[in-house]
Amino acid sequence: QNPAENHVFEADVARLLHMMVHSLYSDRDVFLRELISNAADACEKLRFEAIATPTLLADDTDSRITLSLDEEKRQLVVEDNGIGMSRDELIEGLGTIARSGTRAFMERIEANKAGDGAQLIGQFGVGFYSCFMVAERVDVASRRAGADEVWLWSSDGKGSYSVGPTDMADAPARGTRITVHLMEDAKTYTSRWSVERIVKEQSGHVPVPITMVEKRGAEPIQLTDGTALWTRSKNDISTEDYTDFYRGISGQYDEPALTVHFKAEGRHEYTALAFVPGSQPFDMFDPDRKGRIKLYVRRVFITGDTELMPRYLRFVRGLVDTPDLPLNVSREMIQASPVLSAMRKGITTRIITAIEKLAESDQDAFIKFWENFGPVVKEGIYEDFERRLQLMALSRFRTTVSNDGYRSLSDYVKDTKPDQSAIYYLAGNSLDQLKASPQLEGFRARGIEVLLLTDSIDSFWVMNAPEFDGKTFKSITQGAADLAQFAKPDEEAGMKSETSADVQRFIAFARNTLADQVSDVRASDRLTESAVCLVAPEEGYDRQMEKILQSAGR
Ligand code: ADP
Ligand code: MG
Repeated sequence: QNPAENHVFEADVARLLHMMVHSLYSDRDVFLRELISNAADACEKLRFEAIATPTLLADDTDSRITLSLDEEKRQLVVEDNGIGMSRDELIEGLGTIARSGTRAFMERIEANKAGDGAQLIGQFGVGFYSCFMVAERVDVASRRAGADEVWLWSSDGKGSYSVGPTDMADAPARGTRITVHLMEDAKTYTSRWSVERIVKEQSGHVPVPITMVEKRGAEPIQLTDGTALWTRSKNDISTEDYTDFYRGISGQYDEPALTVHFKAEGRHEYTALAFVPGSQPFDMFDPDRKGRIKLYVRRVFITGDTELMPRYLRFVRGLVDTPDLPLNVSREMIQASPVLSAMRKGITTRIITAIEKLAESDQDAFIKFWENFGPVVKEGIYEDFERRLQLMALSRFRTTVSNDGYRSLSDYVKDTKPDQSAIYYLAGNSLDQLKASPQLEGFRARGIEVLLLTDSIDSFWVMNAPEFDGKTFKSITQGAADLAQFAKPDEEAGMKSETSADVQRFIAFARNTLADQVSDVRASDRLTESAVCLVAPEEGYDRQMEKILQSAGR
């Protein structure tokens, strides 16, 4: 038998481990959730691989997760009969971090010492390492499904680990056994009552049954039954059940803002359970970020990266389960399948309807939703032609009259001046900067509302756009402001907008002097206090869009 080899952790792993142990002390229970979730993932992976290779299951067809407690040895063991890991997979999975979330995770922990750290672990996909919050040493014995050899990975989390073959007598027949040698101050994780409480609280809806065995106790106790929550009738599911399930599937630790659970029947049959999170996922603006809706076929997990949501709803978490796809469906088949597009359309509609209902029924909750996800939802106005109007109607804006609140486009249109055919906007980087813009003077003086747009997506959708209620969108930094048609309430006699001879002379002078820098100089109604401002030409891009394109190097 070959001896175990020693490996040094990758630099990022070492840093992460150090951080786990020293910064995230406050909520150590999460390590158990992470180990259980990995065990459940391993069972789901096996079920999926077994579709093509049924022999992998041998005569052990029911997935299970077993927790064993040994108070005397101060050990907690988490064992699954899932897919298992080969030598290379152990090194890849437990010694390397090739995941994009890790850096972001560490930066966030370092920036925020006070600590929501432990709650972030699951979201960032760095779960396994959390067991070093409670462990002096961790041994992972694993047998890949279908393989003969068993590998043992072992580490004290201090910089290196060993991997080697093992001929341990009681090796797992298939899957992974993780033995956590607990620190002195973590022995509570060998107590039946704590473990039972933690599992029910954190992992109650894991789709694989969890059993607990006490070293000294007699009978194994079943802690959870592994039934899929989404297959149960809505009436039998409590808000708490939904919240627990949401936390498991999202890795977030807040309350969902919206829960959408329905069964579609008819041409295509499927069940969907989806959540709008209560706070922003950390990677919402990551350009590579795909939706996070899991696809199940008859309760077998198939894939997590199918496009089941339009991009502008990429913060939604959840799953769909359908009997209308074959179990051995390939990725290409999924993408091309009419079932997929039906599901995508169905869930999208339900989510948007739920958001609309929230807007009607609970202002405060809706505004919170909008502050979290508005900038993403507005991408839909640009991308989803069919639902453009619906999304515009949902959108809320800061405007020159909104104060600390928000205005909808309907609010805006309801209060337009007679003959006002445009919805005026001013786009820029910050609200304060916009509010101070001289461009607004003439509009303010005439009581004309202007939308103040600060998200970068705004410059895109307004350009593509759209009309709302028969009105077009118009940047106030562009072209003539046509303000002459709207009377100023306090218009002084004689100060009307005909251009005096002095002004004409000044314009001629300015045109001459600035000949190379500007295309024209005009008298304008848009200012009341400031003397001059820059505007963009009538055709083409407005000022903010020009800046965006410039900074993108165009
Ligand atoms: P994540 O679960 O987000 O991938 P983790 O740090 O929790 O991140 O786990 C790292 C990897 O280690 C997993 O992706 C998986 O490949 C492997 N792994 C961990 N635990 C198990 C297990 N019980 N069975 C099989 N593979 C596992
Ligand atoms: Mg994990």
